[in-house]
Amino acid sequence: MKHYILFGPPGAGKGTQAKLIVEKFNLLHISTGDLLRKEIALGTPLGLEAKQLINDGQLVPDEVVVGMIQNTFAAHPEVEGFLLDGFPRTIAQAQKLDQILQESGGQVDKVLSLAIKDSTIFDRIANRAKIEGRKDDADPAIIQNRIDTYHEKTEPLIEYYKKKGNYCEIPGEQSIEEVFDCICKVIG
Ligand code: AMP
Repeated sequence: MKHYILFGPPGAGKGTQAKLIVEKFNLLHISTGDLLRKEIALGTPLGLEAKQLINDGQLVPDEVVVGMIQNTFAAHPEVEGFLLDGFPRTIAQAQKLDQILQESGGQVDKVLSLAIKDSTIFDRIANRAKIEGRKDDADPAIIQNRIDTYHEKTEPLIEYYKKKGNYCEIPGEQSIEEVFDCICKVIG
């Protein structure tokens, strides 16, 4: 059972690449952002709790997303592997993931990190706002919050995974096809 992480700031192209990767490598895509948006659309208590935080550009609590990941792992024992998109986003989430995977004899096989400049993030998100209509994409102050949150809470994971030796950086400012090509070379 393979476990890959698709890592990077908001707007780096994780969702776009995830679709291509899961199709080619027969993996199950788990996007914690998509799962949270589903809960919001359904109006569940978890969705109600997450909604305000997401719309402010803040992270939802670690236990919430870890619980969603555990449920999805447990519901799909049949798959060849998982592609985690947007998880982990904190050191605590990464540690918990390591613990969960160790218990089942697994590991994080590769961290595919899409690197883009902060200035590119704004352009990409503004573009996505027109297509997907996400509320957290529409307001520059919220986008800035998400970038700040990324630098403060998520970026430290780069060192965490570099130390483990499974971190691979992919230049994210190339075309969709070129980025995908680089990813295929890493996991193919
Ligand atoms: P995304 O679709 O990955 O950009 O996620 C949208 C929003 O969902 C983020 O800005 C966070 O508020 C929340 N979220 C998604 N994944 C996580 C996570 N692993 N930890 C905490 N919050 C998350």
